[in-house]
Amino acid sequence: MTALITGAAKGIGRAIALALAQDGFTVAVHYHSSEDAAAKTVAQIRAAGGTAERFCADIAQPEQVTELVKAVEQQLGPIHTLVCNAGIIKDNLIALTKFDDWREVMSSNLDSAFLLTKAVSRGMARQRAGRIIYISSDAGLMGDLMRAAYSASKAGLLGLCKTAARELAASRITVNAVTPGIITTDMTAGIPDTRRAKQLASIPMGRFGTPEEVAGVVRFLASASAAWITGQTISVDGGLCMK
Ligand code: NAP
Repeated sequence: MTALITGAAKGIGRAIALALAQDGFTVAVHYHSSEDAAAKTVAQIRAAGGTAERFCADIAQPEQVTELVKAVEQQLGPIHTLVCNAGIIKDNLIALTKFDDWREVMSSNLDSAFLLTKAVSRGMARQRAGRIIYISSDAGLMGDLMRAAYSASKAGLLGLCKTAARELAASRITVNAVTPGIITTDMTAGIPDTRRAKQLASIPMGRFGTPEEVAGVVRFLASASAAWITGQTISVDGGLCMK
């Protein structure tokens, strides 16, 4: 079975790629600018006896999303699992945010997930099997200071998730979202120490998470054990967003 993971060269996406390869998936490692890191992810999967290929696309460009799905299906066969993980963040006050920056975050984080879902759903429906997993964020549940576009894009994924779950249930496709809290990756590397200390203080478990801890939930959602779980949002955040 083939899994396409967007943004799989590094960080959370890379951990998901390695975990799904361990579970026997043929992995499409998608990347945009991190070519060397993508090659390393593929090499690591192959060294462990798995199967993987890398695919380059700017998922903020709609035509490249369609081409990406076509290329993966041509090379690796029908996609069983799609993990929409790639994303960007831009910090600014709403009053100072340029519309172009808002649009860039929306097209990278939310438009891409819509287009990827649209592109894979027919093939999955033909197989009468499939898993779609969106990597949203605690910011999509709670909002986040100076991150209006990011928070709105991640909240948008949750609405897309529930609607896609309803539409695709009859075809035995499940659609779920994971909302990580603060995970140690390049995305969070530049957080200033004062903000970092405040964030740590708000996490009941008193530490940031690891990419592998997010990957653990994704691999479960992609597995046969999760066949009756759909339309759900699962937080991996050390207790930050208790509902
Ligand atoms: P990361 O290391 O910065 O990875 C993000 C990935 O997204 C990169 O590999 C990048 O690919 C890809 N990407 C961004 N824009 C793209 C575009 N236009 N086209 C194609 N690929 C694009 O960050 P991360 O922390 O692992 O984040 C992964 C996901 O988890 C993101 O959606 C993020 O919002 C979410 N998340 C992260 C945290 C956290 O604390 N780290 C918390 C909640 C949610 P290239 O490098 O190849 O360009």
